[in-house]
Amino acid sequence: AKTQRRGGHFYFTRSMGEEIRTRVNMMHALRNGFRRGELFLVYQPQVCLAHGRAEGAEALLRWRTEDGSLVPPDRFIPIAEYSGLIIDIGAWVLREACAELVRLRAAGYADFMMSINVSQVQFRHPQFLAMLRRALDETGAPPRYVELEITESMAMEEPEVLVELLGEIKRTGVSIAIDDFGTGFSSLSHLQRLQVDRLKIDRTFVTEITGSARGSSIAQMVIQLGRNLGLSIVAEGVEDDRQARILHELGCPLGQGYLFAQPLAPQALLEWLAKDAA
Ligand code: C2E
Ligand code: CA
Ligand code: CA
Ligand code: CA
Repeated sequence: AKTQRRGGHFYFTRSMGEEIRTRVNMMHALRNGFRRGELFLVYQPQVCLAHGRAEGAEALLRWRTEDGSLVPPDRFIPIAEYSGLIIDIGAWVLREACAELVRLRAAGYADFMMSINVSQVQFRHPQFLAMLRRALDETGAPPRYVELEITESMAMEEPEVLVELLGEIKRTGVSIAIDDFGTGFSSLSHLQRLQVDRLKIDRTFVTEITGSARGSSIAQMVIQLGRNLGLSIVAEGVEDDRQARILHELGCPLGQGYLFAQPLAPQALLEWLAKDAA
C-alpha cells in the first residue's frame, strides 16, 4: 500500500497487471463458457435492395455468460484469437452455421445463402480447409450456399499463399466475400487474382453516403469496382431508407442492417422470413 502513493509509474504497472488478469480471467471464462454451450449464433438477413426479399444471412457469434450478461464479439473474439481458442470456436461456428443452413432449406428456403465470418488466426491454421470440409460433410450443407467472409486486411497479406488457399476453398464450392471492404487498399488486379465472389462495403462508408457528395463517395467507388469485376456487393450497416435508396440507385444489389433486421435467433429469423415472403 505504501508504494501505491509513489506516482504514475506504479499505477501504470498496476493497471497493466490488472488488464492482463482481466484478460486471463476472461480467457478461462470463455473456455468454460464455450464448453458449457454459452456461445450461440444469430443471423442477420441480407436483403435484395430492389425487392426487399432476403437472399441470405450472416451468422454472428454471441456469448451469454453464466450471469446472463451478453459479451460483444468485438470483446471476446480478440481473446479467443490470442489464446488459440478461436480454432475450436471457429470450427464450431462453421458447423453450427452450416447446420442452420440445412434447417432453413428444410423449412423451404432453398436458395438461401449462409455467410460465415472467419478469423485471421483460424484462416491461417493448417487444418482450416479440413475443418471446413468436415463442417460441410457432417451437416450436409451444400457448398454453393455457403460463403466465407474474410476481411480486406486478411486478403492483402501473402498473396501467393492466399491465392492457393482461396483456390482450394473455391474448389469445395464455397464462395468468398471480402468483409469491411474499402478500409484497406486492395488493388483491382489483386482482387481479380483472389477470385473473390463478393465485396461487403464497410458500414462507415454506408453511414457517410447521405452526407458527402454522392459522386465521390467511397461506397460509389466500391460499387463501381465490384460491378466492373462482376462481383456481388452487399452494403453493411444500412440503418435508414435514404441510405437504402441511394445504394440501390448507385447499383448496389444487396443491403444488410438494422433497417431490415437486427441479427436474429433461428426461430426469430424463420418468423421474419415468413413475414418477408407474405
Ligand atoms: P462484422 O463482420 O463487420 O459484422 C457486422 C457488425 O455490424 C455486427 O456486429 C452486426 O451486428 C453489426 N450491425 C449490423 N447491422 C448494423 C447496423 O445497421 N448498424 C450498426 N451500427 N451495426 C450493425 P457484431 O455482431 O457485434 O459483430 C462484430 C464483429 O465481430 C463482426 O464484424 C466480426 O468481425 C466479428 N464476428 C462476429 N461473429 C463472428 C464469428 O462467428 N467469427 C469471427 N471470426 N468473427 C465474428
Ligand atoms: Ca462480417
Ligand atoms: Ca463487416
Ligand atoms: Ca467490422
